Amino acid sequence: MVKVDSETPCFVRVKCTDCENEQVIFSHASSEVNCEVCGKTLASPQGGKAEINSEILEIVG
Ligand SMILES: [Zn+2]
Repeated sequence: MVKVDSETPCFVRVKCTDCENEQVIFSHASSEVNCEVCGKTLASPQGGKAEINSEILEIVG
């Protein structure tokens, strides 16, 4: 599990570890974010920074 280091909300490009679909998600997602292809949970809300359950490729902005 990788966590976003920045406390500042940002968008990150992640790759689903199950199907390799790339998707841009919000680092501070307030609800679960699922892979658009296979439905795997990519990020879980933690009351601040979301826990990212996928491979972070880059910070988008
Ligand atoms: Zn997937």
